[in-house]
Amino acid sequence: MAEIKLENVTYVYPKGNVTALKDVSIDIKDHEFLVLLGPSGCGKSTMLRVIAGLMKQTEGDVCFDGVDVYDQDARARNVSMVFQSYALYPHLNVFKNIAFPLGNIKGMSKEEIKERVEETAKLLDIEHILNRRPRELSGGQRQRVALGRAMVRNPVVFLFDEPLSNLDVKMRQELRVLISELHEKLGTTFVYVTHDQSEAMQLGDRIAVMDNGVIKQIGEPQEVYNNPNCVYVAGFVGSPKINFFASRFVDRKDHWAVKVMGNVIDIPVSRLPYETEGIKDGGRIISGIRPEDLRLEAVDETSDFEFKASVEKVVPMGAGLHVQLNTNGTSFLSVFLNHTSIEQGNEITVHVDPEVIHLFDPETEEAVTKRM
Ligand code: ADP
Repeated sequence: MAEIKLENVTYVYPKGNVTALKDVSIDIKDHEFLVLLGPSGCGKSTMLRVIAGLMKQTEGDVCFDGVDVYDQDARARNVSMVFQSYALYPHLNVFKNIAFPLGNIKGMSKEEIKERVEETAKLLDIEHILNRRPRELSGGQRQRVALGRAMVRNPVVFLFDEPLSNLDVKMRQELRVLISELHEKLGTTFVYVTHDQSEAMQLGDRIAVMDNGVIKQIGEPQEVYNNPNCVYVAGFVGSPKINFFASRFVDRKDHWAVKVMGNVIDIPVSRLPYETEGIKDGGRIISGIRPEDLRLEAVDETSDFEFKASVEKVVPMGAGLHVQLNTNGTSFLSVFLNHTSIEQGNEITVHVDPEVIHLFDPETEEAVTKRM
């Protein structure tokens, strides 16, 4: 178990002088499951490798339980990594692959090794395939073996680099559940890299959303989803993607409203005090409404806002419908559950709770107000 602290960590790849991490500071708590989320190239793997000690940061400090680990390599830090590409030894059977890291532990008897491997295999439900070679295994089984090899030395930190990307949807889901259970059972700190926001939402105690070498926001999945602190995070977390609208403030004298797609929607005073600095009548603002926050019926008759929209396209998605709507020339997406009666060309009434509309400054792209 370990608490990991990164303080003002910068990493520059000498080749091409690429700054992959820019002044990153983060506290990863003991036994936390932290997910690093972001698109390809944003610096997730670099951060993982710096934590592992596979690469030394250019600037800043990495501490494990308060101890600066700059001089320690991955083995001394007692971390284990699991990669997308399993990285198993093809000529060794499953037992030997899992046992491999134990070979370096002095004084460990054959019986102890056998016991440790069997214990690990049991947790992963692969006791029945210990004699097989990697080529005789499915992708999911191979990744279980890779997990076993990472677990067998009882590391203080597990680092996962997109471990499920090579697997099909069903297997990915199965292993997500397994990894989550392992986290509970092992009581160890997990740091997990993915570009898949649904994976991050499902697994993380907290999610750190990364962009171009910096952490944009870090928080519990629901907090990041409900209160994205900027346009980037709002656009990255949530599926299907949030709708953004170029909007304007409207001064209603005792409170503010926003004009979204030609409709003037009152913003609850609790969210936006009238005195808020920098806001003026007609001032530009970016509003964001998640497709799933649009509804066919009012949830609260008194506070919900309703407006008309025409149906441009209906895509059935199993449990619900993805409906492309248009209001006053602006297209946007909505998700409706269990309503099959909507058809292309219909005029419908849509409801939205003004509380769930996100507002962002068009200059800084930062959130203007926190959703209650
Ligand atoms: P991610 O894991 O989010 O996809 P990486 O940490 O792999 O991102 O990469 C971050 C940035 O560093 C990218 O711009 C990438 O092109 C660059 N980079 C990664 N590895 C190297 C390398 N070995 N040499 C030079 N640049 C690299």
